[in-house]
Amino acid sequence: GTTVVWFRRDLRLHDHTALSKAVASLGKEDALLALFYIQPTLNETFTARHDYYYETLMKHVEKCEEKGLPIHFVTGSMEQAFSHLQDQVSDLDQFFFNVDETGGGAKRDQEVKDFFESTSVAIYPCIDHTIHGAEEVKKQDGQLYKVFSSYYKQWQQLQKPSIQKIDLKKMKEYAIDQRDLFKRGTNAYQKLMETKTGKWKYAGEDYGLNRLEEFTHSRMYDYKKNRDFPALTGTSMLSPYLRTGAVSARTVYHTIVDELADQANAQGPDTYIQELAWRDFYNMIYFQFPESKDQELIEKYRGMEWNVDAELLESWKKGETGFPVIDAAMRQLNQIGWMHNRLRMAVASFLTKDLLMDWREGERYFEEMLIDYEPASNIGGWQWASSTGTDAAPYFRIFNPTRQSERFDAEGDFIRKYVPELKNVPTKYIHAPEKMPEDTQEEAGCIIGKHYPKPIVDHSTMRKRALELYKEKG
Ligand code: FAD
Repeated sequence: GTTVVWFRRDLRLHDHTALSKAVASLGKEDALLALFYIQPTLNETFTARHDYYYETLMKHVEKCEEKGLPIHFVTGSMEQAFSHLQDQVSDLDQFFFNVDETGGGAKRDQEVKDFFESTSVAIYPCIDHTIHGAEEVKKQDGQLYKVFSSYYKQWQQLQKPSIQKIDLKKMKEYAIDQRDLFKRGTNAYQKLMETKTGKWKYAGEDYGLNRLEEFTHSRMYDYKKNRDFPALTGTSMLSPYLRTGAVSARTVYHTIVDELADQANAQGPDTYIQELAWRDFYNMIYFQFPESKDQELIEKYRGMEWNVDAELLESWKKGETGFPVIDAAMRQLNQIGWMHNRLRMAVASFLTKDLLMDWREGERYFEEMLIDYEPASNIGGWQWASSTGTDAAPYFRIFNPTRQSERFDAEGDFIRKYVPELKNVPTKYIHAPEKMPEDTQEEAGCIIGKHYPKPIVDHSTMRKRALELYKEKG
């Protein structure tokens, strides 16, 4: 019979659970058909992450072609698409895919399972996106964790899944090309490709694996030291590849651990592996609390009276708040679809504690702008920053944006890169340019209120208000 492997957010040909298992299962008389489903509603929204994803998809399709695995596209409603598949492939008997444990993806998985339920097709959903799936890391009493530190202890103890190698030779031998039966899908794919800008040159598996190699052999050793400084390329910048599945999280884990085995200095790598565990942790939290995109995890903080002010919100989005590090961060996001982790925390704290605005506004804006948008991590990060989430931290953890700037961008290099108006501002004033005397403003070619805004709020006033707001609720 025919075995189908369905690609989704796992656009690669290395360490791929569904594909590896599908290929391994093939017997003499069998055939392998690679599938991609195009949701017709995709055309309704187009953001940076769609653009980035389509670029990755194109590279994947080309690579699969090269390796002798032609991809077949289906489109229409889920029901239409899969009925069409069944009609065209009369001997379809196995269906492999990597599951999404949360959000819209999980809903779609369920629809597919329901669809095939009454048929003779055997379904093989595989855990693949995380190192450990949401239900693999449990307390002794079988409950899921809510606090990272104890989750992480348990996570570390579990045996890690091994690399899911694909027998590429066998894959090619069994792969079939019936694309002429799937013209509607092919047209939908071509349309999709016309919408992408082509701006994300470095998308895809090959670049992702190169980046992993390059990080592992060099920057990883200074990760612990450098990762908080946005002006340095201290982090791996692998998140867009992990999001699209161009690089597998397992492969990242094993590459790092193998490197570690050869070296005595373990600090950087250890810290890095903990970050991979955060990714698993938030996946598990979102699995446990599916309503957390809209609702605070901590009950007492539900229904807070957030500030509603379109103009303030717009200044935050555009990076025109008068707080240089916040502005640089937001402009980084707007320009490259990615933001440094330290800054994600700073701008999220700023929106919720300095502007007293609803964290959901921020979560949604990140969704629109990030190429690595991962609902679980983003929701987790935003709820953490607004002190409404899983973090054990008290509500009075409020970042001081100016102090963050002084600590993590002391020379102002990052600020100057993204806020060119401040390019010639002396380092002494770079974190609070409104303090520049008039003649310095003139010399720097940066008149406050004209070339660069005054701070839109007073941090210490807003800090007090935030404390009151949370106290009222707590
Ligand atoms: P590295 O420091 O090199 O870390 C390696 C990998 O570990 C990352 O690629 C990521 O997959 C994972 N990781 C690191 N930190 C975290 C974390 N705190 N939570 C979960 N996973 C982590 N990450 C996303 O992938 N998508 C998001 O939409 C997202 N939204 C965020 C929103 C907020 C408000 C905050 C505070 C954090 C968010 N993060 C998100 C987590 C983190 O900021 C990014 O994963 C990281 O900046 C990606 O850069 P990197 O690959 O260079 O990270």
